[in-house]
Amino acid sequence: MDKSKLSAAIYTEAEIRQMVKRVAEQIEKDYAGEEVVLIGVLKGSVVFISDLMRALDLDVLLDFIVVSSYQGTKSTGVVKIIKDADIEISGKHVILVEDIVDTGLTLAYLRDLFLARKPASLAICTAFDKPDRRQVAVPVDYIGLEVPNVCVVGYGLDYEQNYRNLPYLAAYEF
Ligand code: 5GP
Repeated sequence: MDKSKLSAAIYTEAEIRQMVKRVAEQIEKDYAGEEVVLIGVLKGSVVFISDLMRALDLDVLLDFIVVSSYQGTKSTGVVKIIKDADIEISGKHVILVEDIVDTGLTLAYLRDLFLARKPASLAICTAFDKPDRRQVAVPVDYIGLEVPNVCVVGYGLDYEQNYRNLPYLAAYEF
């Protein structure tokens, strides 16, 4: 892992912790007394979802879906399901949990896929958002922090599978 390629933290560990607390409070308020199924989009969401679920004072079921839409740094727009979620979600309140929304293509695809399974409700939650890069409109219900149009790594996000374990978010400089 070559840390000389990284910028200073865009968001520090403490700022991210605050963000998780704020998003969890919003979700708790919206789903008070309900059970929610959190479905993390792997691999990038793994750090966020594990922090988020422990911050939620709700009944939480956990599942994951593994998709691949990027080769290196380029969005191909083609979403490949490598591992589907396996909890039965019909009639349940589902929250899809992403690491970052960029073009929106991945979530637009996943939203349709999960809506077809007739959940009681479907919301989308992301740790980070790059609103300037959006190509398709997709409703994002819970947004942690906005980031500029750069390649970011850390807090679950990778560059060619590296840097996911950094506790902060930084820009990867090519
Ligand atoms: P979208 O389909 O919205 O363009 O892309 C979403 C996915 O692209 C994210 O889940 C993430 O895996 C990847 N992605 C988008 N921007 C970045 C970035 O700046 N850094 C990293 N590591 N992944 C990104």
